[in-house]
Amino acid sequence: MDLPIDREKATLALDGPVNRVRLVSPARAKALEKLGIRTVRDLVTHFPRSYIDLSSVESCASARIGETCTIRGTVHEIKLKKPRYNLKLVEIALVDGTGIIVVTAFRQPWLMDQIKAGDAVAVSGKVTFDYGYKRMTNPFIEVIGGGEGPALTGTVVPVHPATEKLSAAWVRRIVANGLEEIRGVFDPLPLGLRLRYRLMGRQAALTAIHFPATPAEADEARRRLVYEELLYLELFLMQEGAERARDREAVAHIVDGPRVAAFAGALPFVLTGEQERARDDILGVLAAPTAANHMLLGDVGTGKTVVAGFALAAAADSGCQAMLLAPTEVLARQHAEGLGALLEAAGVGCALLTGSTAAPERASITERFAAGELDVLIGTHALLSDDVRPARLSLAVIDEQQRFGVDQRAKLLAKGEAPDALYLTATPIPRTLALALYGNLTLSYIKHRPHDAVSRTTRVLPRELQGEALDAARAALERGEQVYVVCPLVGKGTEERDGKAAGKRSDADAAGEEYHPAVAIEGEADFADDDVTAATREAEVLQKTTFPDFTVALLHGAMGTEAKREVMERFRDGAVDVLVATTVIEVGVDVPNATVMIVQDADRFGLAQLHQLRGRVGRGTKAAEVFLVSASTREESLARLAAMETTDDGFELAAFDLSLRREGDILGNRQHGASGLKLVNIMRDGAIIEAAHADAAALLDIDPNLEEPDHRALAREVRIAFSGEVVAGG
Ligand code: ADP
Ligand code: MG
Repeated sequence: MDLPIDREKATLALDGPVNRVRLVSPARAKALEKLGIRTVRDLVTHFPRSYIDLSSVESCASARIGETCTIRGTVHEIKLKKPRYNLKLVEIALVDGTGIIVVTAFRQPWLMDQIKAGDAVAVSGKVTFDYGYKRMTNPFIEVIGGGEGPALTGTVVPVHPATEKLSAAWVRRIVANGLEEIRGVFDPLPLGLRLRYRLMGRQAALTAIHFPATPAEADEARRRLVYEELLYLELFLMQEGAERARDREAVAHIVDGPRVAAFAGALPFVLTGEQERARDDILGVLAAPTAANHMLLGDVGTGKTVVAGFALAAAADSGCQAMLLAPTEVLARQHAEGLGALLEAAGVGCALLTGSTAAPERASITERFAAGELDVLIGTHALLSDDVRPARLSLAVIDEQQRFGVDQRAKLLAKGEAPDALYLTATPIPRTLALALYGNLTLSYIKHRPHDAVSRTTRVLPRELQGEALDAARAALERGEQVYVVCPLVGKGTEERDGKAAGKRSDADAAGEEYHPAVAIEGEADFADDDVTAATREAEVLQKTTFPDFTVALLHGAMGTEAKREVMERFRDGAVDVLVATTVIEVGVDVPNATVMIVQDADRFGLAQLHQLRGRVGRGTKAAEVFLVSASTREESLARLAAMETTDDGFELAAFDLSLRREGDILGNRQHGASGLKLVNIMRDGAIIEAAHADAAALLDIDPNLEEPDHRALAREVRIAFSGEVVAGG
């Protein structure tokens, strides 16, 4: 390459291991790995989740209660307190010329080593008032001068996602060093595009998104980086689409064969009109001799699964094979047991493959699948593994598709010649965005649930009144029905309650806001120890004091697969009456006899997630009640929760959520899963998506393989972002 040597070096540094960055000791490398950071690229794209504008500085006297601000002062006293077993908090009395503010930091005992009396400190957070003092709970704390590392220079401080082992302050320092490492990095965006949209250069944008001089600069940096992510995504999708179509012939499925008919006969209910229409759409698409992309959209509980069953049966009738990919073990198992049984009854051979399938069984399943002896393979991410080699794959169904990244989808589809793809989703997505994100796509909608006549009510309760929810739960249990109690995903709920137990009222919202982003839908791997503690305690209390005469069981993501499966089975069979769960149950779990759901700390969930959650009840023929318990007093949180009371329609909720412009809740970063999309919010960034779509098409028009010198860097970035390619680096 003809790059000057230092630029080339800086560019290659991106894909070097993170431990080459200054201050990254082996222990810190390990902590970084927990955050998903292995390379320098991972580090410099570990974007801040919020910023603190230190320019809104107040004094102890002028700081207004209920508002968020920054106060600089001197540490008068710092104390470690242990109000009870396994709870440590650090209390700091901070003074300035005007008064005093009491700062409480839960579970950060290391602050004792970092801060001492006399230090100049800045704290930033929400001001509350309690026991005669202005207070901040779990604020952002920064030692100004003294302490380790450089003092803050700018007025805008980034707050990066951090872990207990590695504070936000440390992440910030390490990111700064990472940026140093890639100084001079090559910008892969062609100059023409950069000029057209007046985009910042790559180095400048990466620097400014982490360390902006002003909030506006952070926005500009974000705009550039979002465009870049989207351009790569569009290039990837278009190239992949072209690849899929090239020299390949898709199967024209037989859609009126014996197994499809037998499957229809095996159903224990009559399809709704909408389900019939969706089934006909899908079978029509399968019958065509082209590789189709079809998306079936329908709110939770609208009965998408059986509709997909027809497609699976059609694949078998056509002498081909199909795969059904689900995001969690619980869901995959449920499909295998429910849908799988119906398919078997219709003469379609099914098997289940998950991460916990024992090795000999796995070998036998993959062997039979490879030999064409199995028609349908249902499973989790295990299906993506290389040893899964269908003999003749003609259909891939992806359930809860928003849980999967584009790279995973590509991997699944690559297992066949030109398989049709069917995506099932409960996440509303505007048509134009769907087209931009999935290329050629046909859509069907199911708007109503089969049992729409059955009522489901939702009520928001302040914490003091949660007894009403427990009463309703007891009434249901006494009718022989079952109950879900959902505990929040984030661990701060525990601390908040601990704080209360210790007689120190802390501010849930400030705590949640400072240290945890609005909760995005997480994978099972994301459950931290604290969440387990919260749920475990809840289960204990419920069993011992609230429902001693019923059986309470606990389900959380950190449990082993076997244990999880057993609990779910016992709940399904009615041996367990009350299931206390973290959000493991969020997706697709189906127990029609469950009629009451209580969600604790409901304000910590996104609306889309709450809606998914409540979809777990009201699935049978009995009326259901949902209680959203929240201690929040924030107007915005309460308005969001109130929307849950007003409408039971997921699409309407999504629109409402958008009107509040809450990032990440609906189709945020996480849900799009692909490693290459970290900043994009596909709702908010609609205009950029469309621009990137058009630009990618134009680029590929003149240079289909991105081989021209100007485009090679682009091609490389696309591969790194979406093909799961691991690039070796120095
Ligand atoms: P989702 O669209 O959320 O995936 P499911 O496919 O899990 O919904 O269906 C929800 C529940 O409704 C299941 O218990 C399913 O058996 C049931 N169901 C689906 N279609 C019908 C129907 N036409 N009549 C009655 N029950 C149905
Ligand atoms: Mg489903």
